[in-house]
Amino acid sequence: MKPLRRAAILAVGSELLTPSKIDTNSLYLTERLNLLGIDLAFKSIIGDDRDELARAVQVALERVDLLVCTGGLGPTDDDVTREVVAGVLARPLREHASIADRIKARFEGRGLQMPEINRRQAMVPEGAQILENTKGTAPGLWIEEGDRVIVLLPGPPRELKPMVSALMDGLLKARASGDALVRRVIKITGRTESHTEEAVRPLYAEWASERVPVSATILASLGQIELHLSARGASIAEATTAVDAAVGEVAARLGLDAYSLDGQPLEQVVGELLRARSYRIALAESCTGGLIASRLTDVAGSSDYVTRGVVAYANDAKTDLLGVPAALIAEHGAVSEAVAVAMAKGIRASAGTEVAVGVTGIAGPGGGTPEKPVGTVAVAAIVGDTLRTRVFRFVGDRELIKFQASQAALDMVRRILQA
Ligand code: AMP
Ligand code: MG
Repeated sequence: MKPLRRAAILAVGSELLTPSKIDTNSLYLTERLNLLGIDLAFKSIIGDDRDELARAVQVALERVDLLVCTGGLGPTDDDVTREVVAGVLARPLREHASIADRIKARFEGRGLQMPEINRRQAMVPEGAQILENTKGTAPGLWIEEGDRVIVLLPGPPRELKPMVSALMDGLLKARASGDALVRRVIKITGRTESHTEEAVRPLYAEWASERVPVSATILASLGQIELHLSARGASIAEATTAVDAAVGEVAARLGLDAYSLDGQPLEQVVGELLRARSYRIALAESCTGGLIASRLTDVAGSSDYVTRGVVAYANDAKTDLLGVPAALIAEHGAVSEAVAVAMAKGIRASAGTEVAVGVTGIAGPGGGTPEKPVGTVAVAAIVGDTLRTRVFRFVGDRELIKFQASQAALDMVRRILQA
């Protein structure tokens, strides 16, 4: 049978067409499929609508050799994926006794009776193979149609992921070409997109002529640049070796500006550096409103190094909670290097940590002056005996200025730790 090379993903669920829910399954699936050398030709989001879904399935089956549908396998009337796909393939659905028994047992294990509607989840199109769901009731389905394959997966990510992992080692792997596409994301601060491009462009031509070529894309956002590298090889190991060599060359050219060589966020990188030195950190935040503390504590295990954070937004809070002299604020203004330093020293004195940060700025849209426009942010970072301060002028709306301020503060700490 021909190996599977081109895939489409249909994310099914009306909630995914609203502003409140994002389709994340397709991102996860794309990464996994790429590892098996399967490219994504396209993806679509479809509501819980029989006609729309039937049309999308028909189109996909004309264009790709692997169609993955996620969502719509639930027990309720709005979950139609199973029936629609069976209809398009003109295969009858039959109740599968062992699935019904498993679902019944799941309910009974929680002291409940299986509702009759859950029987729908035991319906299987003729010829389909069942993919066990270890985290929920709806099994996945693997359907072969000539050389093509249709995979139906449940919508909840925690149910889908283990099923995909099992496919990667089993049915999907057996139908893949053996090729692999491996990606790495390098994250960069302290350079613009153009400066990054200038520094790494000479490498592009070399990579393109390698036996296992590596390709690169630069993505810029406020507060950081991302360089995405990918390599397609005859195996995961071959592609990984090629892409890792390219990552090493980029790291050598960018030095400290490349803060992450495999996609970790800055808060995780800083956390690992703190942990490696057994340092602890305390935060004194004004315009970031606790965002730095929030980002640091997004990382599991951060209680090993995050001790405390104070949000001192008003001037009297800076004085009461951090001991910043009112006269210093009157003399320099609340947004000043002097006050950022006093905030960092204040929190360090009470927390007794090796590392402390003080941040004060104007997030806007109001409050700017000609000397201190919106986006002016003063940061002080203390690591051991080292004190660094800097005044930034960020652009963007309130949310972006807060993010850039948090990014700048974490980055200052990182650079001192890595120096
Ligand atoms: P289902 O019952 O299979 O339609 O899936 C329902 C649950 O999975 C809901 O919580 C959905 O929001 C979530 N879900 C469905 N599709 C996706 C998707 N593509 N990405 C992320 N979550 C999803
Ligand atoms: Mg649904």
